[in-house]
Amino acid sequence: MSTLRFHAVKESLKRVPLKVEETKRRSEVFGENVFNETAMRQYLTKGALASIMAAVGKGTKIDRFIADHISTGMKEWAISKGATHYTHWFQPLTGATAEKHDAFFETIGGGLAIEKFEGNQLVQQEPDASSFPHGGIRNTFEARGYTAWDPTSPAFIYGTTLCIPTVFVSYTGEALDYKTPLLRALHAVDNAAVAICKYFDKNVKKVSASLGWEQEYFLIDKALATSRPDIVLTGRTLLGHSPAKGQQLDDHYFGTIPARAMAYMRDIENECMLLGIPVKTRHNEVAPNQFELAPIYEEANLAVDHNSLLMDVMQKIAKRHNFTVLMHEKPFAGVNGSGKHNNWSLSTDTGVNLLSPGKTPMSNLQFLTFFINTIKAVQTHEELLRAAIASASNDHRLGANEAPPAIISVFIGEQLTKVLEELESVTKGKLSPQEKTDLKLNVVGKIPEVILDNTDRNRTSPFAFTGNKFEFRAVGSTANCANPMTVLNTIVAKQLIDFKVEVDALIDKKTMKKDDAIFNVLREYIKTSKEILFEGNGYSEAWEKEAKKRGLSNNKTTPEALKVKVSKSSIELFERLGVMNKVESEARYEIEMEEYSLHTQIESRVLGDIARNHVVPTAVRYQNILIENVTGLKTIYGDKFKRLAKEQLALIEEISEHIEAINSLVTKMTEARKSCNKSIDIEKKAEGYCTKVKPLFEDIRYHCDKLEIMIDDELWPLTKYRELLFTK
Ligand code: ADP
Ligand code: MG
Repeated sequence: MSTLRFHAVKESLKRVPLKVEETKRRSEVFGENVFNETAMRQYLTKGALASIMAAVGKGTKIDRFIADHISTGMKEWAISKGATHYTHWFQPLTGATAEKHDAFFETIGGGLAIEKFEGNQLVQQEPDASSFPHGGIRNTFEARGYTAWDPTSPAFIYGTTLCIPTVFVSYTGEALDYKTPLLRALHAVDNAAVAICKYFDKNVKKVSASLGWEQEYFLIDKALATSRPDIVLTGRTLLGHSPAKGQQLDDHYFGTIPARAMAYMRDIENECMLLGIPVKTRHNEVAPNQFELAPIYEEANLAVDHNSLLMDVMQKIAKRHNFTVLMHEKPFAGVNGSGKHNNWSLSTDTGVNLLSPGKTPMSNLQFLTFFINTIKAVQTHEELLRAAIASASNDHRLGANEAPPAIISVFIGEQLTKVLEELESVTKGKLSPQEKTDLKLNVVGKIPEVILDNTDRNRTSPFAFTGNKFEFRAVGSTANCANPMTVLNTIVAKQLIDFKVEVDALIDKKTMKKDDAIFNVLREYIKTSKEILFEGNGYSEAWEKEAKKRGLSNNKTTPEALKVKVSKSSIELFERLGVMNKVESEARYEIEMEEYSLHTQIESRVLGDIARNHVVPTAVRYQNILIENVTGLKTIYGDKFKRLAKEQLALIEEISEHIEAINSLVTKMTEARKSCNKSIDIEKKAEGYCTKVKPLFEDIRYHCDKLEIMIDDELWPLTKYRELLFTK
């Protein structure tokens, strides 16, 4: 074993699980570091509290004068909890969270100092943020970027800093972050859904989207992970031969959580409790050293913030436990990658989950309305939904025979399929109103019982109905959920608006009563949304062929997938719904394309370095040992050596061939990179990286991995898969 590898493994074997103190019940600690209603009641005046509540509930603006009251209360609360600094916490388009801390501390002359935090510091800041991605927005308009308080996501204390969730926008109001378009999309779906709910219940005033994410990740001992330059620099392994044992025995999934991992999880959970992140589920995932963490679902904006925060918490706490946490979608070839299922639903301020079949026929008609409209929305905008989850890292997962394919389809299960079929056939031609009602009662009345049986879950579907919510499974583990949530809520909002127009037209013409009109439009939708429904094996080749026949998109790579974001109809859609204007849509497209190129560029450089600086020199060393051996045999045995050194001679040749292949492929890759970099057109550049640079990764890897199993284990410098994956 090479020295580096030896020390890494030795280090990893020394680790013992960290003791994690837990004295209080979790329910007691929950939200302790959040400026939630309880804290607000204690620290705010009645007026200030009412003003925040109205902002959260109705989206009303908070008066500047009131903001001063709020900031003072917030500061007092934060200081009482040991905070010394505050920050506007936001989610720029880098994918990470951003914060710049300022102390409450201020001098007031005469050698005196106070703690101060004013309303304007709470409400708005102008961080020097010129290095965040902006896709040209800040060049075209103004260089400045502003953060503005989002009162719908409560402030929290992280470490010793009061964090205030904010949006990040340009001087001219263009979104420079993930949160702004999400908030707009949530607003759009709220309006559109409330209008539909009014058909059923006049009391509904607000509809909120809910999100429950499931975060998958790998835990690798820190010493082992840092011994691999590819993991350090790219978050994944770029080479490495599969170990003799992988996940084929399925002995990791839901298995006993290893003690070290358990200690780490408990530590995360404790921190999450303080931060008000309602984590609930933890378990081993399919691959060795792979795990999952899931919370109780929350309002979508808050859930997105909580997931972003959690990813940060996970990284921080990993250090304490000497772990490296890998969020990458595909850290290891040959074993499962990681995703982040986004469970999504809509619910009313009257407490109804609109995607939960109800007990009465009327509430079921409401359920069917939202259920069918969601399917229809996905059918119409499947390509846009695919684009929402596109990234260089997720490309390794989608369609790779283990994760949902790059084709978007909807799974609804056998029983609901039957329900839709029956609904479709209810009226051939016209029925009398009486008949219609009866039939409707009949058909619709079937649903409650069918829902109880929710066993036929199809794990290969990218978008599945699971009893009382849809589960968008194709989202990548590194993704900021805001992106898919923005698109999903926007397309559903658009669909609901269109639905209302059609229903109202039927009612206005006095041809139909409300329920019949709803029913009729839904029935048409069932007919026109069939192409997106698929119950079979999404991983199969047959489905790929079938999907093509149905006209569904199958954009396997990010550069292909992203294009639809700037199509005329997509730009118009986001513009019409007030989610993003043309400039914002184009900027995002540019940022994501550029990110793809940069990502691939870095990986390509790292792979080139490892192949040339680690693999080839090691191969040469081993080859020299073999040569020495052969020469020795020749000295001792004379002509007989040829028979005795047959294997060695073959190895020597084989090694030379691999070395030659690696060198020429790396040279080819470097040249391809250079030619891509010359391109000023971001689209061409990304395409070049995708079709000319990236395919060489596999070829280079092939030869390196062959050498790995050929070369003396003592010499091999890179920590092997079996060490990375099976050290507990
Ligand atoms: P799985 O079988 O997919 O792992 P889990 O039960 O672990 O399912 O996860 C389901 C997730 O869905 C949880 O995070 C849960 O909070 C979330 N969820 C449940 N109901 C809803 C809902 N109405 N809206 C959004 N998310 C929901
Ligand atoms: Mg799930």
